[in-house]
Amino acid sequence: MSSEQMRIVIVGGGAGGLGLATQLGHKLGKKGRAEIVLIDKNRTHIWKPLLHEVATGSLDADLDGVVYSAHAVKHGYQFQLGELNNVDLQTQEVFLAPIVNSQGEELLPSRKMHYDKLILAVGSVSNDFGTPGVQENCYFLDSHQQANRFHDALLDSFTRVHQSDELGALKIAIVGGGATGVELSAELYHVTALLKIYGLSKMTADKLSISLIEAGPRILPALPERIANSATRELIKLGVEVRQNTRISQATAQGFLTSEGELIDAHLKLWAAGVKAPEFIKQIDGLSLNRANQIVVKPTLQSLNNDAVYVIGDCCACEQPDGSFVPPRAQSAHQMAQCVEINILAELNQRPLNHYTYVDHGSLVNLSRYSTVGNLMGNLTKESMFVEGKIARFMYISLYRMHQKAIHGISKTLALWLAEKMMRVVRPRMKLH
Ligand SMILES: Cc1cc2nc3c(=O)[nH]c(=O)nc-3n(C[C@H](O)[C@H](O)[C@H](O)COP(=O)(O)OP(=O)(O)OC[C@H]3O[C@@H](n4cnc5c(N)ncnc54)[C@H](O)[C@@H]3O)c2cc1C
Repeated sequence: MSSEQMRIVIVGGGAGGLGLATQLGHKLGKKGRAEIVLIDKNRTHIWKPLLHEVATGSLDADLDGVVYSAHAVKHGYQFQLGELNNVDLQTQEVFLAPIVNSQGEELLPSRKMHYDKLILAVGSVSNDFGTPGVQENCYFLDSHQQANRFHDALLDSFTRVHQSDELGALKIAIVGGGATGVELSAELYHVTALLKIYGLSKMTADKLSISLIEAGPRILPALPERIANSATRELIKLGVEVRQNTRISQATAQGFLTSEGELIDAHLKLWAAGVKAPEFIKQIDGLSLNRANQIVVKPTLQSLNNDAVYVIGDCCACEQPDGSFVPPRAQSAHQMAQCVEINILAELNQRPLNHYTYVDHGSLVNLSRYSTVGNLMGNLTKESMFVEGKIARFMYISLYRMHQKAIHGISKTLALWLAEKMMRVVRPRMKLH
């Protein structure tokens, strides 16, 4: 790097950050116009909307993850493994926690790095709203490590039910009737149906008892009512107990306690009710935050208080012209990454910055192989169109393909699609270890 070269640091290589690092790597890093550094606390990237499939074993994160360090070499940016724990906005430095291995040994001490432009893309974590017992007793789907932890517990439970006639049903309770809870419930039925192929024939779908618990009057509150009704019907058909208007006041080792004092008994408890930006953001002096720790930004996606800091994705509080906030979705993270890419290039070329406008292309909910439902927004009419079945499934998969295209390019995305088709013949249909 030459001494005048600008250093652009992106923290968080998820749905938004990895695409941005790739594009800036091609447009600036490879041409020597800026040094692009991506920092993530993990070595591999898994697209977050796939985590419920990792949790059930439908997807093997070890095979499907993108290794950041190898991806970086190919796409003109540098990768630093590290966990951000603070930022000094005055000196323009990021601070990274020490790296500790699985045996608790320190591999690298705490570090700091200077930036000229910083992009915070650290995503979100589940919000337990201070509910007692949730942190100690529940599983979460915030990262692939957490999804793997749930997967291990699920396999143990499947084995126990298969090997013991006395155990009865496997009870799983999921709090949060958003897309995560709904998709996970359906996926659990799907993998249970596969178990007989792998010799766990006594763990059948009728031994699976899932309660999906939602505090509001209906599941999928952020989506149109027609989608929620259709998803509710499918889930009930599968055998899921959909409990609406049920507020959880405590999680215990035995299950969830409702505000009415009822105990919802569960062997496995998963919390997926709402999101907030990670807690460490509160340590950063000088950024305006909302109640969910999200960083408030200007329409250019620069933080309200500091123009050198851009914020994208779930950790960003971006107000829209109608007063609502951009929802925490993969499509928003992707669009924000595109806007920041344009704005950074504009800054380098001393052009005015663009304002970000959220374009809602619709939402899709995938109920595993049973059904996919959703709505698509018409480009011209802006009317919402209800879709289900094969079209909806195709559109749902397209969202992931768009992400792959942003991080790999068209030819590799096509190659990956072909490889996935071929691997389906030889790979097990679920991960059982
Ligand atoms: C099961 C599930 C299903 C979903 N389905 C859909 C869907 O169908 N459609 C949709 O639009 N959205 C869906 N979402 C939401 C979507 O995944 C998120 O909105 C999206 O991933 C947000 O992108 P992001 O870049 O902000 O954060 P993320 O994709 O979460 O990436 C954040 C990155 O930051 C890293 N990181 C975090 N903290 C630090 C730190 N301190 N230091 C360094 N690195 C850090 C993480 O390791 C991660 O790589 C789903 C979410 C889940 C959990």
